[in-house]
Amino acid sequence: MFEKIVIANRGEIALRIQRACRELGIKTVAVHSDADKNLKHVLLADESVCIGPPPSVDSYLNVPALISAAEVTDSQAIHPGYGFLSENADFAERVEESGFVFIGPRPESIRTMGDKVQAIKAMLKAGVPTVPGSDGALGDDPDENIRIGQRVGYPVIIKASGGGGGRGMRVVRSEASLLNAISLTKTEAGATFGNDEVYMEKFLETPRHVEIQVIADEHGNAVHLGERDCSMQRRHQKVVEEAPAPGISEETRNKIGERCAEACRQIGYRGAGTFEFLYENGEFYFIEMNTRIQVEHPVTEFITGVDLVREQLRVASGLPLSFSQNDIKIKGHSIECRINAEDSKTFMPSPGRIETYHAPGGPGVRVDSHIYSGYTVPPYYDSMIGKLITYGSTRDIAIARMNTALSEMVVEGINTNIPLQQDIISDSAFKAGGTNIHYLEKKLGL
Ligand code: ADP
Repeated sequence: MFEKIVIANRGEIALRIQRACRELGIKTVAVHSDADKNLKHVLLADESVCIGPPPSVDSYLNVPALISAAEVTDSQAIHPGYGFLSENADFAERVEESGFVFIGPRPESIRTMGDKVQAIKAMLKAGVPTVPGSDGALGDDPDENIRIGQRVGYPVIIKASGGGGGRGMRVVRSEASLLNAISLTKTEAGATFGNDEVYMEKFLETPRHVEIQVIADEHGNAVHLGERDCSMQRRHQKVVEEAPAPGISEETRNKIGERCAEACRQIGYRGAGTFEFLYENGEFYFIEMNTRIQVEHPVTEFITGVDLVREQLRVASGLPLSFSQNDIKIKGHSIECRINAEDSKTFMPSPGRIETYHAPGGPGVRVDSHIYSGYTVPPYYDSMIGKLITYGSTRDIAIARMNTALSEMVVEGINTNIPLQQDIISDSAFKAGGTNIHYLEKKLGL
């Protein structure tokens, strides 16, 4: 196991990684921007290194500064967390070339999965179901593209192979607008992602977002840890997540989960990862793989009893997974609400000083947050200030605990989305379970 690692991130996930390290006796180096010297994990770290001014491009995305932080502190590995450089294959490569371990998949895996056309090809090979579509990048022949459109059936969606963050996509409802949409998406993709390759998929009208958590080691073991439902979204951003997904049978879970684990074995995947699917009329359709730990990993930890960050550290250091597929038993239900520093109605970011903070507690309540009374939320980064996660033996109990926890949570001095979360948790359709990805925006009148 490592003796010392650099945590190349900030906020709640940096603290989460630090907690796993402390349990394992690993020393932590916190790297931070000028704006973040009072972050909780920085104050708790064995060592800290300032890596630059507040803007992310100069600090958390500053590769030479991160590598040199690892060098000067004599660290062995770098954990990228989520966001920032976590899915940047070039960074992973630089880390390894500099003699450190990148706590994540091999650079080639990140590169393959970051290219959606290549990722879909890898899935087809492993028997993971994908969205019916063009089976690869679209060419320049207009007649052929019209034929593909007819075969797939309208509506279709044109997507950039290098796209991400909900950008580089265009829905096409009829043949008349197909060719124009392809050329517009190509131009945009070239300018935005430096790769103008686009492909076509059937556009699913009312899917749910259901994703499978996997983890694999370097000894050929790959295990799935069931699914999460993250359909409650606004502008493609997840707002509430839960595990298991309402209405998914054990048989369905095991079938799709095993396909994902098999895909990991085929591509020689190492570390934690998530296969994202659209789920409609009982069918799964792969859309992309995230090659990192995800924000919503705690709901999976609650229902499986597995510490995913601890396992990430284990497999990155070359140890085998500490469990096999047979050891994984899904038990109970867990829900996560993302707590953001933003106006609950207008979604305007609300940075500033937190005057008072009271964390909720009680049975089955977990708070992953770096905030404290007197902490100032800087304006430079993502507005998420924490996650509230509850667990219960049933979904109803997890919901009841979330209701209580949200009402106990006090954050004064800035605005938060706690009122919105209370609204969602007591919504009758949410309570029934299984709402689709458009539900929240419709409810909000967007
Ligand atoms: P990104 O990497 O930009 O997040 P994804 O491929 O994950 O791109 O798609 C983002 C979102 O776009 C999905 O969560 C879904 O809401 C929508 N979307 C993507 N593909 C389809 C599709 N074939 N049918 C319907 N919606 C889709």
